[in-house]
Amino acid sequence: MDHNKLAELLFPQIDKTPEEYEALFPARNVPEDAMVTRLGPSPTGFIHLGNLYGAFVDERLAHQSGGIFYLRIEDTDDKRYVEGAVETIITALDFFGIRFDEGALLDGEKGSYGPYFQSKRGEIYQCFAKELVKKGLAYPCFLTEEELADIRQAQEAAKETTGIYGKYAEKSRSLSMEEIEKNIKAGKPYVIRLKSSGNHHVPAEEMRYIKVEDAVRGTLSMPENDQDIIILKATGIPTYHFAHVIDDHLMRTTHVVRGEEWLMSLPIHVELFEKLGFDMPIYCHTAQLLKLEDGNKRKLSKRKDPELSLDYYRQEGYHPQAVKEYLLTILNSNFEEWRIANPDASIDEFTFTTEKMSSGGALFDLNKLNDVSKDVLVKIPAAELCEFLIGWAKEFKPEIMPLMEGHEEYIEKILDLGRSGNKPRKDLIYAKQIFEFISYFFDDHFVIEDTIPENVTDEDAVEILKRYLDSYDHSDDQSQWFDKIRAIAEELGYAAKPKDFKKNPDQYKGHVGHVSTAIRIAIMGRSQSPDVWEIQQILGEERTKERIRTLIS
Ligand code: GLU
Repeated sequence: MDHNKLAELLFPQIDKTPEEYEALFPARNVPEDAMVTRLGPSPTGFIHLGNLYGAFVDERLAHQSGGIFYLRIEDTDDKRYVEGAVETIITALDFFGIRFDEGALLDGEKGSYGPYFQSKRGEIYQCFAKELVKKGLAYPCFLTEEELADIRQAQEAAKETTGIYGKYAEKSRSLSMEEIEKNIKAGKPYVIRLKSSGNHHVPAEEMRYIKVEDAVRGTLSMPENDQDIIILKATGIPTYHFAHVIDDHLMRTTHVVRGEEWLMSLPIHVELFEKLGFDMPIYCHTAQLLKLEDGNKRKLSKRKDPELSLDYYRQEGYHPQAVKEYLLTILNSNFEEWRIANPDASIDEFTFTTEKMSSGGALFDLNKLNDVSKDVLVKIPAAELCEFLIGWAKEFKPEIMPLMEGHEEYIEKILDLGRSGNKPRKDLIYAKQIFEFISYFFDDHFVIEDTIPENVTDEDAVEILKRYLDSYDHSDDQSQWFDKIRAIAEELGYAAKPKDFKKNPDQYKGHVGHVSTAIRIAIMGRSQSPDVWEIQQILGEERTKERIRTLIS
């Protein structure tokens, strides 16, 4: 077979050589240890936590090492393309502070290693496919859908591995030039397959294994590939296997971070890199995100778990810093320890390493995220939190904007409630929850949610509030204020101290705590809240009195 002739027959339109592309995309001008990473999403319009998880690893590796992180859109699959998907990817990641140095942009692209849309790289893939054909390492295959189905059926019946390999590849591998020419003239569709040199049909001791140093998983050893996989489909469009090998090579990617679902096809990629004569990048196969449900771990699912979508975090109003901080706790096993030792350091000071990534499943837990979020938010100054809350409301709860905009000072005081001192309250988790948590500060949202303690009768409650209102002096300091509540308690037959009531429950109706809860509910509508005196100071004298008046009239 004259492979040069075959290559010209199959790719007459390709006149560039691989050398020209190599020269067009020279080694990058970055420091020696700098890492070049990429995110290669398909533009399906759905961006999920797994993407963020991977992107975060890419971003850290590149930016920690003075390298480059770029965005490549893997849009070879037309069926999955969704309008506006690129924008979704960029804006969703931007919200979490993940920015690309190069690659696809909202309008076009930036960088000298493009095009960064696979759909625009057709000629490049074909050039390298042509090169493989020239070297006798790839060939056209005209097997029809029916023939392929028959092969598969026979393989399944014989319990053999499915696919085109070994004897199943013979028919296409051995086509003569005349037959190929005839098929092409007849307009028969064909794909280009890799001519694999692997062989699984040998005695076990002769089986060859690939060895790959995975940055997350250590040394991987797997049987070599023996499948004549498709590199170019009948449409001339490359498969993922072929496209990513060409792209990661020409874009001079040093580290390929991708999900463990790709582990199985690693032998294919190793063979492609070898046959193309390219150096392999370092692979980092990340663990899948799992969720604990009824004691069992399972994969997060788009249908069942709204928290898989990144939109979820924006809609609920999670602060990006909290989500990032949480992701780091599941990404690097030494992060929490570091955080304890460096409570106030910026997250960017933590040195992220692939070695500290777990290769088993990464357990994702919303409760844990909430705990982390409480710790993160308690450190964010009220003014910044207020701005964040307003930003969220603007987008997701515009009806509360009139309560927020122009009232920043009021909101900031509310957000700062109980946050000073060495045991600050950690009530704030995410914007939606924060608004619910502080809603009693706004008259239109104020509702009595809880009921007064059993020890306090309705008549007593009214009496407590009357006396409270009569004695109310907005300028009382905290202890003067509480002395008055104690006095009211005693006057009405409640113990001034809880421990007195505990000692002699028969002598009292209840204790001062029950009395103050009645007051708390009148003002806040809730039996649990930060300090009442402080809340009154924020609400102001009139609003406080008004709430009590409404209840006793
Ligand atoms: N387009 C692939 C995906 O959506 C990218 C895999 C990779 O990062 O290599 O999963």
